[in-house]
Amino acid sequence: MFRDLEEMNEILIKCEKCPRLVKFRVEVAKRKNRFFGEEYWSKPVPGYGDHNGNLLILGLAPAATGGNRTGRIFTGDKSAEFLVSCLYEAGFTNKSTSLRKDDGLFYYNTYVTAVVKCVPPNDKPTREEIENCFPYLEFEIDSMKNLRAVLVLGRIAFQSLKMYYRKKGVAMERDFVSGEFFNINNVRIYMHYHPSPRNVNTGRVNKEEFVNFLKKIREYLSE
Ligand code: SF4
Repeated sequence: MFRDLEEMNEILIKCEKCPRLVKFRVEVAKRKNRFFGEEYWSKPVPGYGDHNGNLLILGLAPAATGGNRTGRIFTGDKSAEFLVSCLYEAGFTNKSTSLRKDDGLFYYNTYVTAVVKCVPPNDKPTREEIENCFPYLEFEIDSMKNLRAVLVLGRIAFQSLKMYYRKKGVAMERDFVSGEFFNINNVRIYMHYHPSPRNVNTGRVNKEEFVNFLKKIREYLSE
């Protein structure tokens, strides 16, 4: 399919398989907000981090003023602010902020990506868009040769991982339960609500609990 991740990303950033998202990823740059007038990336957003690492963090999609603006996943928006500060406290990153591509952030032993690589309206990709984007995700997971754990952020990420294993002939007969984990083959699957502003503001995602959950993942990976 793709020779390597580099080749995949070269193809990915030119992808126009989803007409609705191709239109939307450009349109959001014209919205009046505190970033109005900035140059937006407005293309599919590749994964970031250590692709040879043991941990995959799987989110939903780039945020309108986050990945879609900065060109790096979980960068420059509220979800990124929360997630990366928690990852830093748990020892997964070298710094607590994720502001822009050239900010020097790196992830230890961890690769971060999203189910769909283009920002969807209202953070809701359609089934067809998820399926269109699936080959990229499939290749990213297939080529993580040292994978030992996956942290899925939210139900759509969980369903997409289920789709991945189903394609490999492995039934993932579990439901999404935030804060829990289970093993499938040699990989441990951790589930947590997505750290979206809504989940954080309503208290569904709590910083202390989330950091402790991440620390448990780190302990597992250190065994
Ligand atoms: S969401 Fe994925 S498949 Fe659809 S246009 Fe973007 S990169 Fe291509």
